[in-house]
Amino acid sequence: MIKLIGAGFSYKTDGGAVDALRGVSVEIERGKFTAVLGRNGSGKSTLAKLLNALLLPTEGRVLVFGLDTADGQNLFEIRKNVGMVFQNPDNQTVASIVEDDIAFGPENIGVEREEIARRVAWALKAVDMEEYRHSAPFNMSGGQKQRIAVAGILALKPAVIIFDESTSMLDPKGRGEIMAVIKTLIGDGISVILITHDMGEAVEADRVIVLGEGIVVLDGAPREVFRSEKLPELSLKPPIAASVAMDLRERGMPVGGVLTEGELVGELYRLLK
Ligand code: ADP
Ligand code: MG
Repeated sequence: MIKLIGAGFSYKTDGGAVDALRGVSVEIERGKFTAVLGRNGSGKSTLAKLLNALLLPTEGRVLVFGLDTADGQNLFEIRKNVGMVFQNPDNQTVASIVEDDIAFGPENIGVEREEIARRVAWALKAVDMEEYRHSAPFNMSGGQKQRIAVAGILALKPAVIIFDESTSMLDPKGRGEIMAVIKTLIGDGISVILITHDMGEAVEADRVIVLGEGIVVLDGAPREVFRSEKLPELSLKPPIAASVAMDLRERGMPVGGVLTEGELVGELYRLLK
Protein backbone atom coordinates (compact mmCIF):
# COMPACT_ATOMS: atom_id res chain seq x y z
CA MET A 1 0.00 0.00 0.00
CA ILE A 2 2.71 2.44 1.08
CA LYS A 3 6.36 1.99 0.34
CA LEU A 4 9.23 4.13 1.55
CA ILE A 5 12.52 3.60 -0.21
CA GLY A 6 15.46 5.15 1.64
CA ALA A 7 13.18 8.06 2.42
CA GLY A 8 14.38 11.00 4.45
CA PHE A 9 13.48 14.55 5.19
CA SER A 10 15.47 17.49 6.40
CA TYR A 11 13.98 20.83 7.43
CA LYS A 12 15.77 23.93 6.26
CA THR A 13 16.06 26.36 9.14
CA ASP A 14 17.98 29.56 9.78
CA GLY A 15 20.27 27.53 11.98
CA GLY A 16 20.94 25.01 9.18
CA ALA A 17 19.37 21.72 8.13
CA VAL A 18 17.56 19.53 10.65
CA ASP A 19 17.59 15.88 9.62
CA ALA A 20 14.21 14.72 10.90
CA LEU A 21 14.15 11.40 9.07
CA ARG A 22 16.95 9.42 7.45
CA GLY A 23 17.02 6.41 5.12
CA VAL A 24 13.65 4.94 6.06
CA SER A 25 12.75 1.85 4.03
CA VAL A 26 9.49 0.22 5.06
CA GLU A 27 6.40 -1.18 3.41
CA ILE A 28 3.05 -0.72 5.07
CA GLU A 29 0.44 -3.31 4.15
CA ARG A 30 -3.18 -2.68 3.36
CA GLY A 31 -5.87 -3.60 5.88
CA LYS A 32 -3.44 -3.66 8.77
CA PHE A 33 -3.22 -1.73 12.01
CA THR A 34 0.27 -0.26 12.14
CA ALA A 35 1.50 1.72 15.12
CA VAL A 36 4.41 4.15 14.89
CA LEU A 37 6.05 4.86 18.22
CA GLY A 38 8.86 7.09 19.33
CA ARG A 39 9.57 9.84 21.78
CA ASN A 40 9.07 13.52 21.02
CA GLY A 41 11.21 14.68 18.13
CA SER A 42 11.90 11.18 16.81
CA GLY A 43 10.38 12.02 13.42
CA LYS A 44 6.85 10.59 13.68
CA SER A 45 4.96 13.62 12.38
CA THR A 46 7.47 14.13 9.61
CA LEU A 47 6.91 10.53 8.56
CA ALA A 48 3.12 11.03 8.64
CA LYS A 49 3.41 14.08 6.42
CA LEU A 50 5.56 12.20 3.92
CA LEU A 51 2.86 9.55 3.66
CA ASN A 52 0.20 11.89 2.37
CA ALA A 53 2.49 14.21 0.46
CA LEU A 54 2.18 17.14 2.86
CA LEU A 55 5.98 16.93 2.72
CA LEU A 56 8.09 15.55 -0.10
CA PRO A 57 11.14 13.48 0.76
CA THR A 58 14.47 15.28 0.49
CA GLU A 59 16.08 11.86 -0.07
CA GLY A 60 14.68 8.59 -1.38
CA ARG A 61 11.11 8.02 -2.51
CA VAL A 62 7.64 7.51 -1.08
CA LEU A 63 5.13 5.47 -3.07
CA VAL A 64 1.44 5.36 -2.18
CA PHE A 65 -0.43 2.67 -4.10
CA GLY A 66 2.51 2.76 -6.45
CA LEU A 67 2.18 6.52 -6.99
CA ASP A 68 5.26 8.62 -6.31
CA THR A 69 4.40 11.45 -3.88
CA ALA A 70 6.97 13.66 -5.58
CA ASP A 71 4.91 13.72 -8.78
CA GLY A 72 2.39 16.57 -8.47
CA GLN A 73 -0.03 14.81 -10.77
CA ASN A 74 -0.53 12.13 -8.12
CA LEU A 75 -1.38 14.55 -5.35
CA PHE A 76 -5.17 14.40 -5.60
CA GLU A 77 -5.27 10.61 -5.70
CA ILE A 78 -2.84 10.31 -2.78
CA ARG A 79 -4.61 12.85 -0.56
CA LYS A 80 -7.96 11.22 -1.29
CA ASN A 81 -6.65 7.82 -0.22
CA VAL A 82 -4.58 8.82 2.78
CA GLY A 83 -6.57 10.69 5.42
CA MET A 84 -4.98 12.28 8.45
CA VAL A 85 -6.38 13.05 11.89
CA PHE A 86 -4.27 15.48 13.88
CA GLN A 87 -3.59 16.10 17.54
CA ASN A 88 -5.76 19.06 18.45
CA PRO A 89 -9.51 18.38 18.62
CA ASP A 90 -10.24 22.11 18.50
CA ASN A 91 -8.94 23.00 15.08
CA GLN A 92 -10.18 20.20 12.86
CA THR A 93 -13.82 21.13 12.48
CA VAL A 94 -14.89 23.73 9.94
CA ALA A 95 -18.70 23.94 10.13
CA SER A 96 -21.00 24.80 13.01
CA ILE A 97 -23.23 21.74 12.56
CA VAL A 98 -21.84 18.22 12.73
CA GLU A 99 -23.37 16.89 9.52
CA ASP A 100 -22.20 19.93 7.52
CA ASP A 101 -18.73 19.45 8.87
CA ILE A 102 -18.63 15.84 7.74
CA ALA A 103 -20.07 16.72 4.32
CA PHE A 104 -17.46 19.44 3.78
CA GLY A 105 -14.71 17.13 2.48
CA PRO A 106 -16.79 15.17 -0.04
CA GLU A 107 -18.49 18.38 -1.21
CA ASN A 108 -15.08 19.84 -1.94
CA ILE A 109 -14.09 16.97 -4.18
CA GLY A 110 -17.37 17.06 -6.07
CA VAL A 111 -19.10 13.97 -4.70
CA GLU A 112 -22.77 13.99 -5.71
CA ARG A 113 -25.46 14.94 -3.22
CA GLU A 114 -27.07 11.57 -2.56
CA GLU A 115 -23.74 9.88 -2.18
CA ILE A 116 -22.68 12.58 0.32
CA ALA A 117 -25.81 11.88 2.37
CA ARG A 118 -25.01 8.16 2.40
CA ARG A 119 -21.42 8.80 3.41
CA VAL A 120 -22.37 11.21 6.20
CA ALA A 121 -24.81 8.67 7.66
CA TRP A 122 -22.27 5.88 7.40
CA ALA A 123 -19.42 7.97 8.88
CA LEU A 124 -21.56 9.13 11.82
CA LYS A 125 -22.45 5.54 12.57
CA ALA A 126 -18.83 4.37 12.35
CA VAL A 127 -17.77 6.88 15.02
CA ASP A 128 -20.93 6.35 17.08
CA MET A 129 -22.07 9.98 16.82
CA GLU A 130 -25.40 9.53 15.01
CA GLU A 131 -27.40 11.25 17.74
CA TYR A 132 -25.25 14.40 17.38
CA ARG A 133 -25.89 14.83 13.67
CA HIS A 134 -27.61 18.21 14.09
CA SER A 135 -25.55 19.42 17.05
CA ALA A 136 -22.78 21.99 17.16
CA PRO A 137 -19.26 20.61 17.65
CA PHE A 138 -17.90 23.60 19.58
CA ASN A 139 -19.09 22.67 23.06
CA MET A 140 -18.47 18.94 22.77
CA SER A 141 -15.82 16.94 24.60
CA GLY A 142 -12.41 16.46 23.00
CA GLY A 143 -13.19 12.81 22.30
CA GLN A 144 -16.42 13.74 20.53
CA LYS A 145 -14.68 16.41 18.47
CA GLN A 146 -12.00 13.95 17.43
CA ARG A 147 -14.69 11.45 16.45
CA ILE A 148 -16.27 14.09 14.24
CA ALA A 149 -12.86 14.77 12.71
CA VAL A 150 -12.53 11.05 11.99
CA ALA A 151 -16.00 11.00 10.44
CA GLY A 152 -15.03 13.92 8.20
CA ILE A 153 -12.03 11.96 6.95
CA LEU A 154 -14.10 8.78 6.56
CA ALA A 155 -16.56 10.62 4.34
CA LEU A 156 -13.74 10.93 1.81
CA LYS A 157 -13.57 7.12 1.74
CA PRO A 158 -9.81 6.88 2.22
CA ALA A 159 -8.05 3.50 2.14
CA VAL A 160 -5.85 4.51 5.04
CA ILE A 161 -6.20 6.87 7.97
CA ILE A 162 -3.20 8.19 9.87
CA PHE A 163 -3.79 9.31 13.44
CA ASP A 164 -0.97 11.64 14.45
CA GLU A 165 -1.08 11.63 18.27
CA SER A 166 -4.83 12.14 17.96
CA THR A 167 -5.45 10.94 21.49
CA SER A 168 -2.69 12.84 23.26
CA MET A 169 -4.82 15.88 24.15
CA LEU A 170 -7.78 13.78 25.30
CA ASP A 171 -8.78 12.57 28.75
CA PRO A 172 -8.85 8.80 29.38
CA LYS A 173 -12.51 8.59 28.34
CA GLY A 174 -11.87 10.40 25.05
CA ARG A 175 -8.83 8.23 24.43
CA GLY A 176 -10.94 5.13 24.92
CA GLU A 177 -13.51 6.50 22.46
CA ILE A 178 -10.93 7.05 19.75
CA MET A 179 -9.33 3.65 20.32
CA ALA A 180 -12.81 2.09 19.99
CA VAL A 181 -13.33 3.94 16.69
CA ILE A 182 -9.97 2.69 15.46
CA LYS A 183 -11.04 -0.89 16.16
CA THR A 184 -14.28 -0.34 14.24
CA LEU A 185 -12.33 1.04 11.28
CA ILE A 186 -10.03 -1.95 11.24
CA GLY A 187 -13.05 -4.23 11.35
CA ASP A 188 -14.36 -2.37 8.31
CA GLY A 189 -11.13 -3.05 6.40
CA ILE A 190 -9.66 0.45 6.62
CA SER A 191 -5.92 0.54 7.15
CA VAL A 192 -4.89 2.47 10.23
CA ILE A 193 -1.54 4.03 11.02
CA LEU A 194 -1.54 5.14 14.63
CA ILE A 195 1.23 7.48 15.67
CA THR A 196 1.67 7.70 19.40
CA HIS A 197 4.18 7.86 22.19
CA ASP A 198 1.90 5.69 24.33
CA MET A 199 2.78 2.03 24.00
CA GLY A 200 -0.53 1.10 25.62
CA GLU A 201 -2.28 2.21 22.44
CA ALA A 202 -0.07 0.02 20.30
CA VAL A 203 -0.81 -3.21 22.14
CA GLU A 204 -3.37 -4.35 19.61
CA ALA A 205 -1.55 -3.24 16.50
CA ASP A 206 -0.51 -5.84 13.94
CA ARG A 207 2.84 -4.18 13.71
CA VAL A 208 4.82 -1.63 15.64
CA ILE A 209 7.47 0.55 14.04
CA VAL A 210 9.64 2.43 16.50
CA LEU A 211 11.49 5.56 15.42
CA GLY A 212 14.50 6.93 17.23
CA GLU A 213 16.24 10.09 16.06
CA GLY A 214 14.79 9.81 12.58
CA ILE A 215 15.57 6.18 11.84
CA VAL A 216 13.60 2.95 12.25
CA VAL A 217 14.99 1.32 15.38
CA LEU A 218 12.51 -1.51 15.91
CA ASP A 219 9.91 -3.06 13.63
CA GLY A 220 7.77 -6.09 14.42
CA ALA A 221 4.74 -7.50 16.21
CA PRO A 222 3.95 -5.72 19.50
CA ARG A 223 4.95 -8.73 21.56
CA GLU A 224 8.42 -8.73 19.97
CA VAL A 225 8.89 -4.99 20.09
CA PHE A 226 7.60 -4.63 23.66
CA ARG A 227 10.24 -7.07 24.77
CA SER A 228 13.18 -5.19 23.31
CA GLU A 229 16.00 -4.14 25.59
CA LYS A 230 16.24 -0.92 23.60
CA LEU A 231 12.93 0.47 24.93
CA PRO A 232 14.37 2.35 27.93
CA GLU A 233 16.93 4.19 25.81
CA LEU A 234 14.06 5.11 23.44
CA SER A 235 12.07 6.48 26.42
CA LEU A 236 9.34 3.89 25.88
CA LYS A 237 7.89 1.49 28.36
CA PRO A 238 5.14 -1.08 27.83
CA PRO A 239 2.12 -0.53 30.04
CA ILE A 240 2.21 -2.76 33.11
CA ALA A 241 -1.12 -4.42 32.30
CA ALA A 242 0.10 -5.26 28.81
CA SER A 243 3.30 -6.83 30.03
CA VAL A 244 1.46 -8.87 32.67
CA ALA A 245 -1.07 -10.03 30.05
CA MET A 246 1.75 -11.02 27.72
CA ASP A 247 3.42 -13.01 30.47
CA LEU A 248 0.17 -14.80 31.20
CA ARG A 249 -0.41 -15.57 27.52
CA GLU A 250 3.06 -17.06 27.33
CA ARG A 251 2.10 -19.33 30.20
CA GLY A 252 -0.94 -20.53 28.30
CA MET A 253 -3.72 -18.35 29.70
CA PRO A 254 -5.99 -17.02 26.93
CA VAL A 255 -5.84 -13.41 28.12
CA GLY A 256 -6.82 -10.91 25.44
CA GLY A 257 -4.87 -7.80 24.50
CA VAL A 258 -5.49 -5.46 27.41
CA LEU A 259 -4.53 -1.83 27.73
CA THR A 260 -5.44 -0.96 31.27
CA GLU A 261 -5.31 -2.56 34.69
CA GLY A 262 -9.12 -2.47 34.73
CA GLU A 263 -9.28 -4.47 31.53
CA LEU A 264 -6.73 -6.93 32.85
CA VAL A 265 -8.78 -7.47 35.99
CA GLY A 266 -11.87 -7.97 33.80
CA GLU A 267 -10.09 -10.56 31.68
CA LEU A 268 -8.82 -12.46 34.72
CA TYR A 269 -12.26 -12.38 36.29
CA ARG A 270 -13.77 -13.76 33.08
CA LEU A 271 -11.22 -16.59 32.94
CA LEU A 272 -11.47 -17.56 36.60
CA LYS A 273 -15.25 -17.41 36.82
P1 ADP B 1 7.73 13.81 16.45
O1 ADP B 1 6.44 13.92 15.72
O2 ADP B 1 8.19 12.40 16.66
O3 ADP B 1 7.72 14.57 17.74
P2 ADP B 1 8.77 15.52 14.34
O4 ADP B 1 8.64 14.79 13.06
O5 ADP B 1 7.77 16.55 14.66
O6 ADP B 1 8.88 14.45 15.54
O7 ADP B 1 10.20 16.20 14.42
C1 ADP B 1 11.39 15.52 14.07
C2 ADP B 1 12.55 16.51 14.14
O8 ADP B 1 12.36 17.54 13.18
C3 ADP B 1 12.69 17.21 15.49
O9 ADP B 1 14.07 17.39 15.73
C4 ADP B 1 12.01 18.53 15.25
O10 ADP B 1 12.56 19.53 16.09
C5 ADP B 1 12.31 18.80 13.80
N1 ADP B 1 11.26 19.60 13.17
C6 ADP B 1 9.94 19.26 13.07
N2 ADP B 1 9.25 20.20 12.41
C7 ADP B 1 10.14 21.15 12.06
C8 ADP B 1 10.04 22.38 11.36
N3 ADP B 1 8.88 22.80 10.85
N4 ADP B 1 11.17 23.09 11.20
C9 ADP B 1 12.34 22.67 11.69
N5 ADP B 1 12.51 21.53 12.36
C10 ADP B 1 11.42 20.77 12.55
MG1 MG C 1 4.58 14.69 16.27
